[in-house]
Formats: sequence, structure tokens, C-alpha cells
Amino acid sequence: MLKLRHPISLLLIAILVMAGVLRSFSTPAPIGDDAPDVVFSAVRAATILDELLRERVPHVAGSPYNTVVRNRIVAQLETFGYSPEFQSRFHCNPMFGSCSPVENIIAVKPGVEGKNAVLLTAHYDSGWAGPGAADDGAGVAAILEIARMAADFPPFTNDIIFLFSDSEENGLLGADAFAQHNPLFKRVKAVINLEARGSAGPSALFETGEGNRGLIRLFSKNVERPVGNSLVYEMYKRMPNDTDYTVYKRKGVMGANFAFAQGVPVYHSVIDDPEHLELGSLQHHGDNAWAMIKGLGERGLDARSSRENAGYIDVFGLWLVHYPVSITSGLALVFGVWVMLAIGAAFRREFRFRQLRWGLLAVPFMLLGFALGGYLLSWPLGHWPDLHPLEHPFPWPGRLALFLMVGLVIYSCLKLFTGRVSACSWMIIAWALIFALGIVLTNTLPTAAHIALLPLAMFALGSLIDLFRKKSPAPLLVASLLGFATATFISLYHFFMMDVVMNFDQSHIKAVSFSLMGLAAMPMLLAFVKQRDLTWKPAQWLLVAILALCAVHFFLPGYSAERPRDMTLMYSEVGGQEQGYVVLESIYRRPDRHYAEGHAFELKEINNGRLGTVQRPVREVNSLQLPGVNITDQRLSKEEGGWRHSFTIDLPANSPILRLGIPKAAALAKAWINGELALDTSIENKYKRDIDTLQVVYPGDAPLEISLLTGSSDAFTMAAVTWHELPGVLVAPFMGNWPDDARPFLYGPRAEKIQEFEFGAAESTE
Ligand SMILES: [Zn+2]
Repeated sequence: MLKLRHPISLLLIAILVMAGVLRSFSTPAPIGDDAPDVVFSAVRAATILDELLRERVPHVAGSPYNTVVRNRIVAQLETFGYSPEFQSRFHCNPMFGSCSPVENIIAVKPGVEGKNAVLLTAHYDSGWAGPGAADDGAGVAAILEIARMAADFPPFTNDIIFLFSDSEENGLLGADAFAQHNPLFKRVKAVINLEARGSAGPSALFETGEGNRGLIRLFSKNVERPVGNSLVYEMYKRMPNDTDYTVYKRKGVMGANFAFAQGVPVYHSVIDDPEHLELGSLQHHGDNAWAMIKGLGERGLDARSSRENAGYIDVFGLWLVHYPVSITSGLALVFGVWVMLAIGAAFRREFRFRQLRWGLLAVPFMLLGFALGGYLLSWPLGHWPDLHPLEHPFPWPGRLALFLMVGLVIYSCLKLFTGRVSACSWMIIAWALIFALGIVLTNTLPTAAHIALLPLAMFALGSLIDLFRKKSPAPLLVASLLGFATATFISLYHFFMMDVVMNFDQSHIKAVSFSLMGLAAMPMLLAFVKQRDLTWKPAQWLLVAILALCAVHFFLPGYSAERPRDMTLMYSEVGGQEQGYVVLESIYRRPDRHYAEGHAFELKEINNGRLGTVQRPVREVNSLQLPGVNITDQRLSKEEGGWRHSFTIDLPANSPILRLGIPKAAALAKAWINGELALDTSIENKYKRDIDTLQVVYPGDAPLEISLLTGSSDAFTMAAVTWHELPGVLVAPFMGNWPDDARPFLYGPRAEKIQEFEFGAAESTE
């Protein structure tokens, strides 16, 4: 039977596999600036980035500082011998209702044919709070370093277009302007987009165009350290994030979207600066993009070889396993039947059907045990302390507690069921379940079929090897070990993958990823303990160790200076009211309670500028009576498709943003700003909104002509929000004791003026 010398060998396999999996979640060593010219050097790219963001300040599209950054990018391109061009326009993306000035920078390395082009792009604008070194300065610096390398490189077949897009943060405006209005776009047949949703970690391929089989093959062949899992894309589709590639993908252009996503608390925060960027991430970005450029640059891009999708997962960042989705059902059937036959053949003499009864109890016991154990641990690990929703700054004690919990459940299972459940009955049930999972995945989520297909395939392969060592007393030992190693790989890969998108308060979901590993390990363990008496002692020790790790975790801070919570001081007033508020804003997380109490902030419902209220810790102050907008020349007319409200908005001087909120009851269909279509509510996007919004970033001082096409004739209220400089004297009293682990995030410090305007019912003007 399955005679293992000792179960320690399984633990050793698991540790080795974990070391490999952790390589997938780490970055290559940055290459120094003494490297030859033809090599991508993260240190050289970082020097460029350091210079681009010298002042370490935000540079939102349309802001004066964005012009400074833009000029530095252009100067770099010129030193490399390019003649960069601008694409300048006031642009709106009707998908988001968002407008801003756009200044794209475009440089071209001409190809031999001069027909098709590969677009390598990253956005150079930042968000409102920080300088955007990772998002997306790393992408910009990587492309500049590649442009330098490409300048001396013999021409490729295809043109290479370097696009430094503007105003991504305000709704993919630069990319949309390029796709809509730049004649170069028509020649673009492939896109490589570099992005970030954090400040560290590997640059992973997380999105591609539809029909990606050829691209994945190229990625697998050309990229030295491929990292990616097609399941990530399924998760990304469900997340409220977009990148410039969304624009090109919607236009049917094939592409590869790379991003790094560790260090999430730094994302869009004031410390997204060059000092907090992991150089390895920059190196990986550059290595990936350069390898893809070399591949796509030489490729015939006229006809795509395949319109089929591929599933893929990297093994230790060394190889990419990839497969066309069309063969997954066949593979699942072949491997599944093969595995079941191999097990049947191996155990045909000793197997009795009644052995399955206890197995049918024991297998669900273990799977539920993982989920329940994870759920119970999510309290001490997650619910009590303050936590970032995504990433823990010191995750290892929590992770170890989860690992030991998995060990405890497996041991308890052995103790309870040894003698009742035979190794072969467990093996039959476990692998039948994995087979069933394969069938379900191939039919519902075929790009995730590798989760079941890989363990099945390796078990099948192992059973072949076992055939040649037939005389052995352990008929399926190699199959079991290979199946276990692969199941462990799948379990650990997905555990660490989830570690980046969920914190320990969701430990039950993280723990479920160990199911495959547990299923595959048990037959060997059951065979090992068959003749032995197990006691509860080891289980008690495991429990003690888990509790000790929980205690350690409990005393670790949920935030640190390097992985801070988001916390911003801003001021808010509503037009016509006597009082205003200094607001302690913490949009996605909780503000520091000691700080809030120390400065006597009180929770209060305040106007959220979106025709509703929000509860925030505030201090009431006298209204600053900030200048707001004026609405003049209001006109209303009936036309095909609804009622058209036209009006002029006079803006206060130097306001970086104007945001209008229109209630859903008005049934807004379309909106125009200065004649540009600014919003079309019929375009689907990922964001569910309680109201329709229009925003203009850096609108300038000239009045804006606005026109709304509404489906309802009823009267409605429109909110108008403008931003102003936050007066230093107002917040100076609150700057004492500012916690080290809290940093402004997303919109940053500002003074907000909220006004509300009534728009009359249609009848009244007819
Ligand atoms: Zn970005």
C-alpha cells in the first residue's frame, strides 16, 4: 500500500513547493547602472524617475506640476534621439462623465514595414494625494529606459509607439483621446500597458485581450520570469478598477496588461514616492515590456493566428503552463477517467464499497474544518485589531497560524477516522471530487481549469511511472506524491494570491485554498498511521502554538509608517450655511481613534456633496464662505428623447475640480460640456453609482457651457462641488500628534465647497 517512510517527507515537499511559490510573488534583483546599454537597468530607470518627480508632489492632469513632469519626459526622449509629439485637447470620457485637459506624449521608433504598430504605454499623471512613483511613474520610467535601449536597436518589422498618456486617473482620458482622435491609433495592433496597484511585488500579467492564445504563447516564450494566473483576470473583472487598456480592449485591440499589486496601502497615498517603490518591481516591469516588445515588434500582426482564449499559470516564475480553453473539457475527462482507473486498478483487491461510508463523512469533515478553522481565526487575526482591508504589514504570524490550523484539522481528521476510513476509499473520494471540480471549472470558468487539471495530470503521469515499478509494495506512491506536490502548489499559489487582495478578517476564504492539498495528502497519511495509536497530544500542542501565534499577531500593528492607513484633514462647507467643518477623512478605512478623540472630533452626518450625507469625525468651525459657482442662462426645452437643460457655470478662480451630481430620478441620458459629449449613461462600466456625476478636472477660469438631456420632466436638485486651497491656519491646531501610521490618501487635503441648485419642472417653463 502507500508506504511513506515518514510523513515528514510530505512536510518537506510542502516547504519546497512554498519556497517555489514565494518566488512567483517576489521580484527579480534590480540591475545596476553599470550594466551594458542593451540591458534594462532598474537603477537607471529609477534615476530617471527620481528626476521626473524631483519635487515629490502630486501632478494631476491639467495641474502646473504636470507640465513640469511632461517637459522632463520630453527632454529625456530628446536626449535619446526621438522627436516626441504632443496630442493636446480638452477631452471627456462619456463612460465616466469625466473631463480634463489632456496632453499625451508620443514618440515613435519606426519599423521596417511602417504599417502596423505596437503600443507601449503608461500614464504619467498622478492622483491627487501623492507623486505617483509606483502608479504610474514606474511604468513611465520603464518605458523611458526601454526607449533608450530601443533607440540603438536595429528597427523591428513593426513601428513601436511609446505613449505617455495623460489623465488616466480622471477616467482614462488620455488613452480615450488617443484612441478617438489620434491617427496613429489605427495602426496599433497590440498594446502593452504598464500599471500599478501598490508599490511592490512582481509585475504580473493580469489582463489580456480576447482571443489571447497567441499572445500568451509569446509571453511564455519571450519573458524570462513570467508571472501570471488567468484566474486573476476573473477577479480583476469583478473589482472596481480600470486601466488605460480598458479603452483599447473595448476597441478590440489585443494587449498585455502588467501590474504589480503588493504594498497596496501605499497606492494613491502621499507616500507613493520613489523612496517607497520596490526597485525589483521596476526591473520586472522593464524586463517584461522589453521582452514583449522584441517579440511583438517582429511579429506579423495582420492576422491573428487564433481567436481562442488560453488559461495560464506560472510555476515559480520559471515557466508558464498554458492551454487553450477548447481542450479543457477533453483533458478533464481523459485525466479524470485515467486517475479513477489507476486508483481502481491499484486497489481492486482490497476495496469494498462499504468502506466509502466513513469516507463520505470524513472528507466533508476536513473541508468544513478548514473553512470553520479559518472563520474562527479571522476573529483574533482580523476582526479585533484595526486592519487595512487588503494587506497586512506583518503577515507571517497570521499566515503561520493558518498553516498550523490546517495541520490541526488534518491531524484531527487522522485521529478521528483512522481505522474507519481506508487510504483507498479516501483516495477514491478525494480524486473523484477533484475530477468533478475539473468538470465544473471547464464548463463555468475554463481559464481557471488548471486548478483541477494540473493535479489530475500529474497524478496520471505519476501512475504511469508507478506502472514501471509494479513490484513495489506501494502501487500509487509516485502518483500520490506528484499529485500531492501539484495540489500543494495550487493551494499555496492561491493562498498567497488571495493574501494580496484580502486581509485576515477573511481567513475562511484564504483557508479554503488548502482543500486540494489536504485532499491529496490524506491517503498517504492514513496509510502511514494505520497501525499506530494516535493521541490528542499533538493536536493540543498545535492548538497552543496557534493561540501563541494569534497573540503575537494581536500585538503587531495593523498599520505602519511604510504601510499606512488613509487619513486626511479636509474642510467642507455647504453654500448658505453659517458653519463649516474640519473633517477627518478616512475613505476606505477607519481613522485613528486616539487621534480623533485627542482632538475632540465628533461623529456627525454631513453633506457628502453627492445629494446625500455621510458620517464623518468632524470639528465645527465658522464657515470660510468660500467662493462657489454661479449658474446663469438656464434654459429648458423639450426635444426628442427627453428634456434638455442648458446652462452656463461661472467658476471660482483656480479651482482644480468641478463636480456636478444629478439624482438618478432625473433619468440623465447624456451630458455635454462645452459641446463635448461628457457622459452617456447607457455605456456600461464597472461602477454602480447612487447618482450620476460629471466632473471637470482643472477646468480653468472661463465659464463652462453645460447641457443635460434628462428623461424625466420633474424638478430636481443638482449638487455642485468645487475645491480650494486648504488654509494652513485652519488645520494647524490639528497637526499635533498626527500618527506616524496615517497618511493622506486619494484626494488629499483640500477645502470643499458644496452648493445645491434647483432645476424646475418642465411644465413651469412651457
Ligand atoms: Zn494608474
